[in-house]
Amino acid sequence: MKLNDAPQPSDSGYAISQWQDTDAIYERLQTLLKAPLRPIRRERMDEVLNYFTAHCQGSKALAERAATVIPGGVQHNLAFNHPFPLAVARCDGAHMWDVDGNRYIDFLQAGGPTLLGSNHPAVREKVHTLLDECGPVTGMFHEYEVKLAELIRQHMPAVEMFRMLGSGTEGVMGAIRLARAFTGKRCVIKVGGAYHGWSDQMVYGMRLPGTGRREATGIPRGATGATQECFPNDLDALRRKLWLNRLRGGTAAVIVEPLGPESGTRPVHRDYNAGVRKLCDEFGALLIFDEVVTGFRVGMGGAQGYFGVAPDLTVFGKCLTGGYLMAGGIGGRKDVMMLLAGGIGALSKRAFVGGTLSANPLSCVAGYYAISEMARSNAPVVAGRAGDRLCRGLQEIITRRQLPYVAYNQGSIVHLQTSAVLLLSTRNPIKLLKEVKARKHMMEEMGAAYMAHGIVTLAGSRLYTSMADTDEIIDEALERFDTVLSLV
Ligand code: PMP
Repeated sequence: MKLNDAPQPSDSGYAISQWQDTDAIYERLQTLLKAPLRPIRRERMDEVLNYFTAHCQGSKALAERAATVIPGGVQHNLAFNHPFPLAVARCDGAHMWDVDGNRYIDFLQAGGPTLLGSNHPAVREKVHTLLDECGPVTGMFHEYEVKLAELIRQHMPAVEMFRMLGSGTEGVMGAIRLARAFTGKRCVIKVGGAYHGWSDQMVYGMRLPGTGRREATGIPRGATGATQECFPNDLDALRRKLWLNRLRGGTAAVIVEPLGPESGTRPVHRDYNAGVRKLCDEFGALLIFDEVVTGFRVGMGGAQGYFGVAPDLTVFGKCLTGGYLMAGGIGGRKDVMMLLAGGIGALSKRAFVGGTLSANPLSCVAGYYAISEMARSNAPVVAGRAGDRLCRGLQEIITRRQLPYVAYNQGSIVHLQTSAVLLLSTRNPIKLLKEVKARKHMMEEMGAAYMAHGIVTLAGSRLYTSMADTDEIIDEALERFDTVLSLV
């Protein structure tokens, strides 16, 4: 496929005001990794932990109960924080309140989807109306299924057709199956370190590039037998894999997080995606963009619009509904997507994908109004400017306090690396084994310290801004970050 005619980055409408100097970021991260760890001083960390004892008794009691009935005490890693998970009772815009009444500035934003800010009335009210009219699900076709698919296509021309599913994981599973069915080829190449959900074939090379099956507990070898990983930014290695795969059943798809693994934690070069597109065309593989986080957050045209690269298939997830449930899907080329159209007992070639609750009015209404409101209010750009302000402020604090930490952002996705555990390299296994535990612990402690100072982050190292983040809120957050970083 050719490059589409989506807007280029110089156009407005995208959250990323300037593509960062990727090599300079990696250089600073390498310096951070070489320097001794700079955690919060022990006595100050004790004070941090005292906050949770003094102010979070309600959460603590719930966490103790949860530990006996919920494996690990939380239903998803996102909700895990040191020293125990905080139970949240209320969210509004840029803020959340825990069950003890403490208020936090929310830079988790549910892991990314609430670009409008939490619990936006423009979506909530439509969901209420829908629930009053027909409840969350009917099993039948609903008008908003069409309206949502049309709206996505309007913003992302490469999404000629759209299949709604329940989650990002399901979207990835379906897209890979579809790519194999369409191409008749076998292998799937991902970029090491990227997260594409928890399906058997994708628990491979997660978090750190080069880790292969390290986390594939409970997954038979055969399930990952046709999954391969490439190091980020290495187009030559990708070409070699594609070339060798011609003898191994061919490559059905290359799947990327377009900003780079873990939502740009390991950023890609500006022209990387275009390079992957070219290689896919040369070797007859489909290009899959996983836009579970970037779709609409980077801009209404997604990362594909920002980079001006049209993938064959796009995976959607939580971004689709502004945070409402059952959010996922596959979009893409009509000739590929039509392989999903078999119907009951179809005799034609068909990729079997679907779920009873996939087509539910609730998520389609939520999706339609969330995306409409994002477009109307220019949410990606507003949130992107907040991300720029936050990142600039963090960089200023880091420089002023002469800390080795690194802050960088892609619009509303802000990375604050203090221990850089996710940047460790498997090419240096001795350093990896020696340092991974301490670096992970430090990241958890930083997360706890931010929280004790009224800021919720994603795993102590990532901050999602939203449209609700005014300059005043960002400046208040920066003051709080400054206090935390004074404890180092
Ligand atoms: N892909 C990416 C890039 C993600 O960030 C995630 C979730 N964080 C997924 C896929 C999986 O989505 P879900 O949790 O909805 O299954």
